[in-house]
Amino acid sequence: MPTDSLEQILLLAGLFLLLAAAGFLFGRFGGDRDDIDGIAAPLNSEYLKGLNFLLNDQNDQALEHFIRLVRVDDQTIETHFALGSLFRRRGEVDRAIRVHQNIIARPSLSREQRDQALFALARDYLHAGLLDRAENLFAQLAEDSSYRIEALQRLCSIYEQEQEWASAVVAARQLEAAKHPEIKARLSNYYCEMAQQALDRGDIAEARDNVRLSQAKRQRLTRGAILRGEIALEEHDRDLARKLFGRVLAQDGAYLIELLPKLARLYEDDARGLDAALREITAERDAARDEIARAALHWPDIRSPFIDDCVETMISDDPVLAGFIDTQQVFAQDDPELRQAAVERVRTALGQLAASSPRYRCTRCGFSSRQLLWQCPGCRNWESFRPIDKVRFDTLIESDGGVNY
Ligand SMILES: [Zn+2]
Repeated sequence: MPTDSLEQILLLAGLFLLLAAAGFLFGRFGGDRDDIDGIAAPLNSEYLKGLNFLLNDQNDQALEHFIRLVRVDDQTIETHFALGSLFRRRGEVDRAIRVHQNIIARPSLSREQRDQALFALARDYLHAGLLDRAENLFAQLAEDSSYRIEALQRLCSIYEQEQEWASAVVAARQLEAAKHPEIKARLSNYYCEMAQQALDRGDIAEARDNVRLSQAKRQRLTRGAILRGEIALEEHDRDLARKLFGRVLAQDGAYLIELLPKLARLYEDDARGLDAALREITAERDAARDEIARAALHWPDIRSPFIDDCVETMISDDPVLAGFIDTQQVFAQDDPELRQAAVERVRTALGQLAASSPRYRCTRCGFSSRQLLWQCPGCRNWESFRPIDKVRFDTLIESDGGVNY
């Protein structure tokens, strides 16, 4: 039996039992309470009609039928909430919305019941992708209700999807005031998003203010250092940009994939300056030359003597690569021009391999991308992307076992 069908049957069975329980306990099956007093209720013809729909696999008709049968009142309201929840979980959001609107339409709801129904309806809208409607209801609940914290959390998620960072900051600060754990990290990222937007439109002062606000929430944030470096880059402050990018690389050299083009921009038309900066900021680490070579494969247009030297060393020394390419033959050429041409061919092939590979991967869900994304589109976690520091040389193998370079 397909899993979907099994799941549907189980859900329907749960729904059936809930409605049956409501019918047995409160005598609510059938149109008029006076007609179905006591024991007669479960055998009511309307009840049997719904059961008949179920037995004939007419699940939709059965669900519609049962929802019409049970009125909303204090004794059945939880059954209606359960019904709505079941519909939403089945992906039948339209019906979930109808159930919850039906509850809200009841005139004598308590404050708690009304908030519960509004919250459930807002979740339905969210599930259906009706973000504006969901946002309105969550905003209403965030003002004054027992669902305030949950509503603020969901508002943050909606604003993240809509990339409305100023609104996200307002919601997150309310969560911060309520001492909600882990909100500071998100809040610092919201400020970084605002800083990036300001930077993109050339508003340096605004960008700087937002980076400061971000760093006030969280010190030594990699993203904050990269943004401050970019601001320094815009202001042609080479020393500060080099220092900030160096700080990022000291923590994680794999970020050179992200920073190499920024450093190259810092030393436009000055290959010696670029080399000096690369030597300086990678001087302390053994793996630095390899990091430079691997980053350079992703940015084939960025060339300098030091970068070329690092790439050449990688081609000659990498043990994995040597398993696929006869590197001895490449470097055995006596003629410097022929040797250089052979190295370039390998480099071009590796560059093509890098160009067809993702640069970053989410450490939580494995989503990969060519762009450094600070919030994963797959799992929505923040700061979960990391540069991929290995090039998959083994994909160089062609189907005939040869090597394409
Ligand atoms: Zn992810």
